[in-house]
Amino acid sequence: MADCLFCKIAAGEIPCNKVYEDDDVLAFRDIAPKAPTHILIIPKKHIAHLADCTEEDAVLLAKIQLLAKLLADEEGIAKSGFRVVSNSGEDSGQEVAHLHYHLLGGKKLGDIC
Ligand code: AMP
Repeated sequence: MADCLFCKIAAGEIPCNKVYEDDDVLAFRDIAPKAPTHILIIPKKHIAHLADCTEEDAVLLAKIQLLAKLLADEEGIAKSGFRVVSNSGEDSGQEVAHLHYHLLGGKKLGDIC
């Protein structure tokens, strides 16, 4: 989508601190981290909100969840604990209208994201 920040990052038009990429998904470090580990996982396909997902996206969503677990392992936070959050829509405070999951950990997590 032309005016979407995360589509531009997925296309390599805007740089990011990449931690994982394949044909379907990209994971990169949040530019304003709220925890020692704060990674964003996005589908490359433009989906604005989790609320817009359909049955067709089931495999993609499962892949993102599993990737969150694998990245938590790599970051060394799988045992200490981590959080996976996806804000969807105005009341959630979603700032970027491209589906993304926050992977957070590395400290006791309070009321963030
Ligand atoms: P949300 O509020 O759930 O939409 O989260 C959007 C997240 O994107 C915030 O945590 C921002 O810090 C992060 N963000 C915005 N621009 C960038 C960027 N260029 N690179 C990495 N993270 C970004």
